[in-house]
Formats: sequence, C-alpha cells, structure tokens
Amino acid sequence: MTKPHSGPLDSTSLDPDDWEAFAKVAHQMLDDALDKMKTSREGRVWTPLPETLKAECSQPLPQEATALEAVQRQIASFLPYNVGNTHPRFFGWVHGGGSPGNLISEIAAAAMNANLGGRDHGAMYVEQQVVDWVREMFDFPADSSGIVVSGTSIATVIALKSARDAALGFDNRQAGHGQGQLVGYTSTQTHSCVARAFDILGLGTQALRKIPVDGAFEMDLAALNRTIAQDRAAGLQPFVVIGTAGSVNVGAIDDLSALAEIAKTEELWLHIDGAFGAAGILSPELAPKLQGLKQADSIAFDFHKWLHVNYDAGFALIRSEETHRRAFSDRPEYLTGAASGLAAGGHWPVDYGPELSRGFRALKIWQQFTEHGTQKLGEMITKNCKQAAYLGARVCEQGALELLAPVVTSICCFRYVSPGLGEDALNRFNDALVVALQLRGVAAPSVTVIDGKTAIRINITNHRTSMADIDILLDEIEAAAQELVSDFGV
Ligand SMILES: *Cc1c(COP(=O)(O)O)cnc(C)c1O
Repeated sequence: MTKPHSGPLDSTSLDPDDWEAFAKVAHQMLDDALDKMKTSREGRVWTPLPETLKAECSQPLPQEATALEAVQRQIASFLPYNVGNTHPRFFGWVHGGGSPGNLISEIAAAAMNANLGGRDHGAMYVEQQVVDWVREMFDFPADSSGIVVSGTSIATVIALKSARDAALGFDNRQAGHGQGQLVGYTSTQTHSCVARAFDILGLGTQALRKIPVDGAFEMDLAALNRTIAQDRAAGLQPFVVIGTAGSVNVGAIDDLSALAEIAKTEELWLHIDGAFGAAGILSPELAPKLQGLKQADSIAFDFHKWLHVNYDAGFALIRSEETHRRAFSDRPEYLTGAASGLAAGGHWPVDYGPELSRGFRALKIWQQFTEHGTQKLGEMITKNCKQAAYLGARVCEQGALELLAPVVTSICCFRYVSPGLGEDALNRFNDALVVALQLRGVAAPSVTVIDGKTAIRINITNHRTSMADIDILLDEIEAAAQELVSDFGV
C-alpha cells in the first residue's frame, strides 16, 4: 500500500480556522441585512453609489487574503445603494420589493450549496414541490412540466424553443433546418425579451409579427387573424402566438381566452408572457381577466416581481412534458441516471432547460409561499391595483396632469402638462421631470412613450407601498414640476 501523501498544504482549506470568530462576523452581516430591511421605508429611494465606493470596485484582482471583518464591512458598505426597489416609493420599471423572509432561505441555500442540475438530493424535492404548486396555481394538468429559472427572459427562450421544436419536428435539433419559414405573433406592446428569444433561437426578429393594439392596449384580434392568413398565403409557417398578461408599458392584459380560441383554430402554440401579471391569478380582483392562462401551452413569469421573492427567480411552465423534455434532453454518458443511489431521481432539470448547474432558487420560492400563503400574496397584488386606480383617479382630477392610458393592473401612465409647452417641449419636460424626481430621492418613477407622448410611468408592484405614498408622490411631482418650469422658460 502506498503511504498517503501529506504535506503542508494538506491541512489548509477555505474553511475558517476559528469558527467562533467567523460566526461573529456572520452574525454581524445578518444584523446589517436585517437593519437594511427594517429601515426600507426610510430615507431616499435611490442614491447613486458614492465615488469612494466606485473606486473600491476598480481594484486589481486580489492575490492576498483579506481579514473577514474587513470583507464584511466592505460588503455592508454597499447595502444602502440598491436600485431602491425595497423602498415603498420605488415606482420604476417593474421591480419586486423583496421579502425579509428570503434572508433566511438564502442562508440555508448557501449552506447546502446545492446543484439542482439533477441527481437525488433534498433540494430536488423542494423544487419539485414548487413545480407542483405552480401547476396548481395556474390550473395546469398534473402531467405538465416546469422549471425554476432566473427570470422571464430565459423562461421565454425555453418556452419558445419548445414551441419551435414542436413545429419543426425534434430532428431539427440535429439538422437545424427550416427555421426561415416559421413566423410568430405578439402585440406591439410586447416586452423586448420575446424578440430577443426569436433572435437567440435563430428565427430572426423579423419572424415576430407585432400586431397593433386597440384602445385598451390589447392585441387587435382581427388584425391578428388577417396577418396569420396573409402569412399562410405567402407560404410561411405560423407556429406561435404570444399573449401578454400585464404589458410592460401600461399593464394591459390581452384577451387571453380569445387568443386561446384563435390558437386552437389555427393550430398555433399559445405562449403567455405573464412576467408580473400572471401572479394576478392569486388576486380575486384580477383573476377573472386571467382565466385564459389555463389554456396556454406555456407561461413565462417571475417570482421576483409581484410575488416579492428576492432576485432572481422566474419560471417556465409548459403544458406538454414530452415536448419540453424532447426540446432539451440530451444527456451524455457522464450524466446517465441510475435506478438508485445518488444518480437516481426520475426528473433531472438538465433535461428541461439550457443549464446544467443550477442553484437552489426553489428554496426562497418555497419559503415565500409557505411563510405568507397565496391569500396574503394575492392581497398584496389587489392592494397595488387599488393604489394604481386611486392614482389614476387623482391624475384625472388634477388639471396639470393628463392620464395617457387606462389603469388595468399596477401601472399608471400620465404626463405633466405645463401650459404654453408644445408637444416636443412637453416630452422633454416630462423626461426631465422624471430624472429630477429620481434625483430628489422621494419617489422614483421611470418613463415610457405612449402614442408618441413621454409618460411618467408609475408601476406599483410593491407590498410596502401605502395610499399615503401615492399622495406623497403627487405632491412631489407638483414640487419638482414647479422647480422645472422656470428652466423651461414658462
Ligand atoms: C420584466 C418583464 C420581462 C422580463 O423578465 P425578466 O425577469 O426581467 O427577465 C418580460 N416581460 C414583461 C411583461 C416584464 O415585465
């Protein structure tokens, strides 16, 4: 027998020498993180990173070790400088507010350091539970399929790849033929991730037809039918229609049941981008508008938006498990499963998406559902819709404000109309107003453009927001506008 090698490096590892000292620092970090969350209603919404901290982010690659206390202090120094989405008056884009509970699951997930590509271990069962819950949430059949991912962008790629391969036949995965004939349909209000998925899948963004919307910002169904007919007449192969449940500009929900009818008649795959809006199925107020979700072939949505799981966490739900698996499964010999032992477990996520190694996102999702329950999560969604509706009503009352789109879900788009400014100047004024608001730090909206008009866009996907925050926002808009008016010479 050869003697085991042992040398000076043998006794070292990346584990701490002194676990008690390590624990002290770890507890300090937990305290700092809790303080951050406890005070999330206070202070400025967004504060740019100070120059000193920016400088700390342009250091050479460290060759030597740094004491853990110093590392922890450095990490803690970044805590105040998030985008602001933990603050109740963050109204920009569509960001979730996050939840303190997730601090707990993230600690456990880091300790387990689980890789959920496959194999038989505890984390896999937790993810399977999350998949089951998502099925139940959307009334999908027990044999449907799903995978936890980082967000709707990649979930869209996974869903549309399944749709593409179903349309072309799975042998296209080897032969790579025929993509030039495929075309799909979505509305002009679609999120950019849909066109990006067409690009990534080799379909080309021109193969995505953007159908105009009606006055409610919902896809014009007559125009959809016409375009499908034209494409068929031109010898193209329509394969997918993509509905939106909660559009990014104004929060509109396409007529999903009507889209399901058209998809059925035309034999198209129905995919729904429900990034934030699909979660509305948990709100008794929104659920009636979302009944069509259960007829979809696939849904992409996020836990990190309206369900407030901390970034990042999204999901791809696919009705046909077989299609989903055949679009991705391709296991080489070193990943072969076994009947028992560590390589067992019938379901390996590697067979359902582009990634092999995957972290334990499922745990924070599991915690969110378990800790709060769907009823409370739904109440938070209803509350945000009421706040957006209240804002819409107040905008309509105020002479200086003009509502630019109906309020359906959590988004209210309007502009400040300063007398004496023409259309171009108004656009510049509202752009400047939003930047001024962000810099003032009291409330942070973002902008969008609606029918050529620059809009102040208020999105409320935030469980911390109260009605009083809406009043503060309106006062702040008036104050910031008064300051700006002189700059614009009116
Ligand atoms: C946010 C959003 C996306 C993209 O989702 P990510 O999780 O950021 O990848 C897609 N569609 C809509 C409607 C969105 O609001």
